[in-house]
Amino acid sequence: MVRFTIVNSDTVPEWRSGYAVDCRSTTTRFDSGLWLGGIMSIRIQKTFEALFALEEVRGLFRESLPTGFDAEEEAAFNQRIADLKAIIADLEAGTGTPKVTKIAGTLDIRSREEQYINIHPIQAAGRLTTEARKAIISYGDGYSTCDSCRKPFRLDKISKPGIAEFHEDLAKFVNMDIARVVPGARRGFQAVAGTLVGKGDSVIVSALAHYTEFLAVENAGGVVREVPLDAKNIVTAEATAQKIEEVKAESGKLPVLVMIDHFDYQFANEHEIAGIEKVVHQYDIPFLYNGAYTVGVLPVDGKKIGADFVVGSGHKSMASVAPSGVLAMTDEWAPKALRTTAMVGDLTKRKFGIKEVEMLGCTLMGGTLLSMMASFPTVKERVLHWDEQVKRSNYFIDRLLKISGSRVLSEYPRKHTLTKIDTTGSFYTVAKMHKRKGFYFSDELSSRGIVGEFAGATRTWKLNTYGLNEKQIRYLADVFCEIAEKYEIPVTP
Ligand SMILES: *Cc1c(COP(=O)(O)O)cnc(C)c1O
Repeated sequence: MVRFTIVNSDTVPEWRSGYAVDCRSTTTRFDSGLWLGGIMSIRIQKTFEALFALEEVRGLFRESLPTGFDAEEEAAFNQRIADLKAIIADLEAGTGTPKVTKIAGTLDIRSREEQYINIHPIQAAGRLTTEARKAIISYGDGYSTCDSCRKPFRLDKISKPGIAEFHEDLAKFVNMDIARVVPGARRGFQAVAGTLVGKGDSVIVSALAHYTEFLAVENAGGVVREVPLDAKNIVTAEATAQKIEEVKAESGKLPVLVMIDHFDYQFANEHEIAGIEKVVHQYDIPFLYNGAYTVGVLPVDGKKIGADFVVGSGHKSMASVAPSGVLAMTDEWAPKALRTTAMVGDLTKRKFGIKEVEMLGCTLMGGTLLSMMASFPTVKERVLHWDEQVKRSNYFIDRLLKISGSRVLSEYPRKHTLTKIDTTGSFYTVAKMHKRKGFYFSDELSSRGIVGEFAGATRTWKLNTYGLNEKQIRYLADVFCEIAEKYEIPVTP
């Protein structure tokens, strides 16, 4: 776990002398005595050990009688508290060695969000808030949402904890009439496809659509028809209209659904959502707005967009545990997409009243939902500051573009924090000769505390700067610069 070696000012590697002025200008950290140091790592390690020790204490409560510990349990308790104090002392001082490295004997401790800056394209905005982490500690048990579930027994009706209210807030958050939590955006597509798509029906998606859109349509027996991109990799209203016409001419029927991503997952380009909605509704086709990369990071107004359905991803963009997401819709669609069961058992004549078919009754019945709820206040607030995130994204990309041979494949200037870049002319030129090939770059990044790039990829790859603060984004840009200079890739000031 402890990956960093301590590099202090006496042991600055030779290559770090003689920078170009530009690269170094914003750097403060590289010159400080302890660079990326062991003390951070051991403190993180000890934080996990302390958390685990407290869970051990918690386990004692669970195994004892409600009336209190017996003598043996009291002794075990005292022992655990003593262990905990020793861990805390190490944590405070930054001393000690790793004592616990596995969970259940096999699972590594995952500390990348603590040890590193993580620029993984799909992980950035799904990182939990501190409140969400507290929620999963507290609500990790199986059906933990169900303590106060009362008739008519449905998740979205539970008022303690405030799940019913959360559903209303979620609908308001995306400005739609009604919302359900679902196990991932994909289950939102599935519910809509299951409602609207019959055998052989066509569904329009974009040429940049996510695979889960394909699968949702396939699962319902439909076929996807893709809208082609324009020269700038944008899905336009015009191209969507043409595709609808094409489908109509070929099959004699209109598509039954149009599903378009506001920002796609490949370039995170912004597509012509407003125009597309107008076109789609001229044909009277329902429109699903795919907000997997928007809901939870930027303001989404479903009514203004004119969407029939808005789908978002909890674990991608709402700082929530996987699998989680939201499916919101207008009142018009609720009777169909949220139809309740009509099935009757032939023997028992049992019926299950208000259970919604597409939701299979209840969806997120534990820590997933509570993590969403615990992050929600932060999520509501953070969408108001999207412009800062975009500014930082552009700051980083501008610095990257100064590294000779680097290119941006996404639209530029950036309107999103996810970006596809092309470093064939810069970092790949080194990979070609390096004995570690593209992995040299991953090594250089991780030794400076950066992870999340596609390991070994130095040609075209994606990164996401979402959530990085001012200090972190500068550091990230400095690191790229520094690696370039180490390998004598020209950096223009
Ligand atoms: C990530 C992603 C999805 C899938 O989201 P899940 O919540 O994991 O189901 C769907 N569409 C797009 C555009 C995505 O980027």
